[in-house]
Amino acid sequence: LEDRVRALEASTPRKYPQVKYLNYKNRKRILITGGAGFVGSHLVDTLMVQGHEVIVVDNFFTGRKRNVEHWLGHENFELIHHDIVNPLFIEVDEIYHLASPASPPHYMYNPVKTIKTNTMGTINMLGLAKRVMAKVLIASTSEVYGDPTVHPQPETYWGHVNPIGPRACYDEGKRVSETLSYAYAKQENVKVRVARIFNTYGPRMHMNDGRVVSNFILQALRNETITVYGNGKQTRSFQYVSDLVDGLISLMASNYSQPVNLGNPVEHTIEEFAWIIKKLVGGKSEVKQTDAVEDDPQRRKPDITRAKSVLNWEPKVPLDMGLYRTISYFRRELERSDQFQKD
Ligand code: NAD
Ligand code: UDP
Ligand code: UDP
Repeated sequence: LEDRVRALEASTPRKYPQVKYLNYKNRKRILITGGAGFVGSHLVDTLMVQGHEVIVVDNFFTGRKRNVEHWLGHENFELIHHDIVNPLFIEVDEIYHLASPASPPHYMYNPVKTIKTNTMGTINMLGLAKRVMAKVLIASTSEVYGDPTVHPQPETYWGHVNPIGPRACYDEGKRVSETLSYAYAKQENVKVRVARIFNTYGPRMHMNDGRVVSNFILQALRNETITVYGNGKQTRSFQYVSDLVDGLISLMASNYSQPVNLGNPVEHTIEEFAWIIKKLVGGKSEVKQTDAVEDDPQRRKPDITRAKSVLNWEPKVPLDMGLYRTISYFRRELERSDQFQKD
């Protein structure tokens, strides 16, 4: 019987999410570096559904095959296990360059590798874009503003970064990434887009990435203490991942080449945020202050005037709705891992 079931499964065509048909003039070949990660995998979904050919390149440092497994075997989809610190020769029309560890514990785990990924990796992607005349979008970050002295942060602010602190491998890596982009644009006529992404959350965030959203939700779901680093007066502004994906696609399609902030300007202190999550999850967790972390930016909120005017973009998903979806995802993930342990 087992053999017959297996044979039947093998002969049944796989069900994929519905994709639009695009004729060859409108269909693009799109490379997404870091496409098996949190943001990248959502971008993959949207571009696949739109009918494009999508090639994901990932070294699976923080990304997972599971994030894109629903596309494996689809004729428009390709997954390449590759580290972008090494050159890559393929033919594409557009490149979304997202490969880089993104959460502080992940990028501090191997700072040298973080710098290599954001410098050598970005050079390779810009070299590729130059050779095949592709448009390239660089995923930069609000961290280029460091611990900002201007609030909220417009794109014209040059930032306040400690070049030798624990966050420098990421912050300075991303700053060089931007510098490289404009050097290739000026010298080699590469078409570049630079997105300065602010704190983003949603399903498929790495469970153990140590970021505030995943930490607080997991702690609340497990009835553990919610750990606020420092006095909790520092602020962040949280954007839901579908808003970011819309912004990235609009930016790529635009003819605007200067940096653009993509983030949700609704700002909360981290202490408020702890209570918001506790209320949404329920449970018996306490909220407690612990040691502050070094060089923690004290205030962060995007000025999105530019994105509104050049992309006609602004975030749509309110915090409670985005958190509700994210909490449901983490709840399912916890049930799944409990089940694995039982099996
Ligand atoms: P993530 O860790 O989930 O995804 C990053 C992906 O890049 C992973 O799949 C990882 O395996 C891959 N990767 C890392 N180094 C690589 C290498 N050398 N070669 C090939 N692949 C490599 O993080 P994310 O939150 O999805 O972030 C995506 C991008 O957006 C990153 O560039 C990050 O810096 C930027 N960003 C994210 C946020 C956020 O809040 N999520 C904020 C600002 C900027
Ligand atoms: N590169 C790549 N794929 C390509 C073209 C270039 O990975 O399709 C790499 C190449 O190996 C080089 C980098 O991108 O290390 C920068 O390329 P560029 O042409 O600017 O520099 P050069 O090859 O002249 O040093
Ligand atoms: N933070 C916290 N408790 C945690 C994790 C993070 O209080 O368990 C704080 C952290 O000190 C920072 C904010 O939450 O002020 C956002 O941290 P995160 O690592 O998510 O992202 P960052 O914006 O610092 O890159």
